[in-house]
Amino acid sequence: MLAVCFVDLDHFKAINDTLGHAVGDQLLQQVARRISGCLKEGDIVARWGGDEFTLMLQNIQSTEDVAKVAQRVLNSLREPFVFNHQAFRITMSIGIALTPSHGQDVETLLKNADAAMYDAKHQGRNNYKLHSSVTIGKALDQLILTNDLHKAVDQNEFVLHYQPQLDLQTGRVTAAEALIRWQHPHKGLLMPGEFIATAEVTGQISAIDEWVIRAACAQIRSWQNRGNPLLRIAVNLSAQTIQQKNLPKKIAQILLEHRLDSSQLEIEITERVVMQDIPAAISTLQELKDMGIYISMDDFGTGHSSLAALKQFPLHSLKIAREFIQDLSPESREIAVVQAVIALGHGLNLETVAEGVEKVEQLEILRALGCSSVQGYLLSKPLAAKQFQQFIQTHNNPEELCKAVTEH
Ligand code: C2E
Ligand code: MG
Ligand code: MG
Repeated sequence: MLAVCFVDLDHFKAINDTLGHAVGDQLLQQVARRISGCLKEGDIVARWGGDEFTLMLQNIQSTEDVAKVAQRVLNSLREPFVFNHQAFRITMSIGIALTPSHGQDVETLLKNADAAMYDAKHQGRNNYKLHSSVTIGKALDQLILTNDLHKAVDQNEFVLHYQPQLDLQTGRVTAAEALIRWQHPHKGLLMPGEFIATAEVTGQISAIDEWVIRAACAQIRSWQNRGNPLLRIAVNLSAQTIQQKNLPKKIAQILLEHRLDSSQLEIEITERVVMQDIPAAISTLQELKDMGIYISMDDFGTGHSSLAALKQFPLHSLKIAREFIQDLSPESREIAVVQAVIALGHGLNLETVAEGVEKVEQLEILRALGCSSVQGYLLSKPLAAKQFQQFIQTHNNPEELCKAVTEH
């Protein structure tokens, strides 16, 4: 068989943007050399354009053969690249199509390899994917989704739902998380799991995140004008948004426009987001924290947490991932994990918020372990703004809340 591979560097634009095009050019040359070093005689590597390369591999006996080469190419980027005494890493995503099963002409093979490459990007980048007919269907869906997403921001098709967080010490709701939903013109209400990953791949996420910050701030202002109790509202931000150098300035401007105090806004980031570029993330987060914005680490325990890095992050709280809470019972092993995270929080002077609390039993365990707050269906599902306001009004004292939770 003959294999056609489509190779695309991950986040290459960030290199050009931060280190300049001269460094970007040198990097492409060095990547090309490393790829060539992985190939046999007679194989071909070509620069397709921009940060894309194509490979043509001959004498492939089985899919394992091509998988081995693809893995070798991925591994060749493990060693950091050094420019001007500065070391950095880059990864790539690879899509593969084989003759004759995935096409018998140049165009089909390239198209299928390209679609498989997109699949690899969607599965978290830094990997390779073999073409499958599912890939094509998915690629088409993604293309349609990408087009629709473009219109969605302009046509105001997003909405925020709000999920309350209960402070276990005071028994009051002190904060809520804003969660995005997309009122799609044909597909109905879409959850973030159905479009955020695509928006991240296509680079549309930053515009969406900015919309979210604005919408959340406008909502806080409107609730405040109606005399509702002051709550802190949390928004989730993706890696690309955190990497924007002017993010703190932009947020300061939005807070000013809505005449809000910075302590009313919270930013949730995941471990994955900060680990991509630790120094840059620390500096942006520090700036946001200095402004008075509350910072939390979302889904803590599920990403590549480096405890060494954790102590450097400017944070206020750790949100314990739902994965650890869902099986939490007195006999479970999860209890040890949750206890350790809460102790870690205490040691680092951070609050702890448990996500996905669905049962009274879980709430009682968390209270006994000294967890600061809980969020989850037990208290309430994420609610549209109007329902959220009603929820706060009917449950604005600890006794009412307690009743609501235990009657659940
Ligand atoms: P997340 O930030 O960890 O949000 C919590 C998710 O858990 C939400 O799902 C929420 O509805 C769900 N959840 C809350 N309580 C419970 C419970 O008791 N049981 C169960 N089974 N689930 C519960 P949702 O709204 O689908 O959001 C999923 C993820 O999408 C979020 O995870 C967040 O990472 C991302 N996301 C949401 N909104 C935004 C946004 O505005 N911007 C960005 N960049 N990402 C967002
Ligand atoms: Mg979150
Ligand atoms: Mg979470």
